[in-house]
Amino acid sequence: MRVNVRFRCLRCGYVGLGNGPSCPRCGFPLIAEPRGVLRIDREKPSILRYASALNYGDRVVTLGEGFTRIRRVNGVLIKDESRNPTGSFMDRGSSVLISNAVGEIRVLFEEDFTLSIATYANAAGVSAKVYVNPDRVGAYAELLRLSTMGNVTIEFGGGHGINTFYGEPIFLDGVKTIAYELYEQVGEVEGVVLPMERGYLALAVYEGFRELREWGFIGDLPRLILVKHRAAQMTEISDWLVRAAGARVVDVSDEETIRSMIELARSGMYVKPVSAMAYAAASTLGGDYVVVITGTGIKEYRVGRELGGLTKLQEAILGVLEGSRPLTAYEVWERLGGVATIQGVYKALGSLVRRGLVSLGYEVRGNKKVRVYRSLSNYK
Ligand SMILES: [Zn+2]
Repeated sequence: MRVNVRFRCLRCGYVGLGNGPSCPRCGFPLIAEPRGVLRIDREKPSILRYASALNYGDRVVTLGEGFTRIRRVNGVLIKDESRNPTGSFMDRGSSVLISNAVGEIRVLFEEDFTLSIATYANAAGVSAKVYVNPDRVGAYAELLRLSTMGNVTIEFGGGHGINTFYGEPIFLDGVKTIAYELYEQVGEVEGVVLPMERGYLALAVYEGFRELREWGFIGDLPRLILVKHRAAQMTEISDWLVRAAGARVVDVSDEETIRSMIELARSGMYVKPVSAMAYAAASTLGGDYVVVITGTGIKEYRVGRELGGLTKLQEAILGVLEGSRPLTAYEVWERLGGVATIQGVYKALGSLVRRGLVSLGYEVRGNKKVRVYRSLSNYK
């Protein structure tokens, strides 16, 4: 990991170098100071728009994460993070973190986080050891996806020498771009509604807005609304956000959460309970708040089909993509010269993406955001 990043403790004011996850003075989670003042590169339809302020290393690993859309569902303004490459906001953090990775990644199995980290490691040609606690595997979809990825080995046990953590400063550095995007897409936001578990997401979003205010992009910080399950405890981070940043905490019941899951599914959004909680709270708040839907609850995984070799068409597509700039499905189809239908090309591309051999990203062509595919460098 990079060592020349300055870290700051928002709670006690400590500033220093080094990459410990928490403050050496008071133990609070650290955040990374921005690399420079934000200059938005409007040509880039991903968090690379904000690269001037992000702590990327010498290489940049990106799969088109970020610049997710804002939509309104039943009157509630939603920032739809399920549109990220692996289906959650985690991809923002993974892009910056893996860009700084040196050597093997060793990480605990934590659903969305680990799936995202392993996918980005794969894109960078970095191997990942994932440590699974068999008593705590709930997210089988993510586990099955991981188990078919070429760069991942699954281990059992506590995991000695874990070197990559959810919530570490260089990860939150990417996550804070949610705040930058809300500023760009909505303007001065009245309030942001976030699901709260450990509180890292809220800390990163708070930091993003704090920087925007420091640089003069906004006058006031938006109100942060932290939504938690009725039975969940406050954490060190949420306590601090309430005391120092005026955040408000809203409790939600299981019934409200499930009702919201159903309501969102009927609008075409299949979310996990944690995101449904935030939506449930936002629907009752009034005011023009933006709720962050952190990720999707349904991830496609087709392990049985994926275990076999590649089809002829898949091989041909990889041949086209290797050594090429990112291409749209239509461009791939054109270059294949009529050996398949466009529908067949779409299907084969989807399968290659699920296998981790091809990445799906976005580019600006003209003034449109288009889907593009590229081959991942470590294809064997
Ligand atoms: Zn401190």
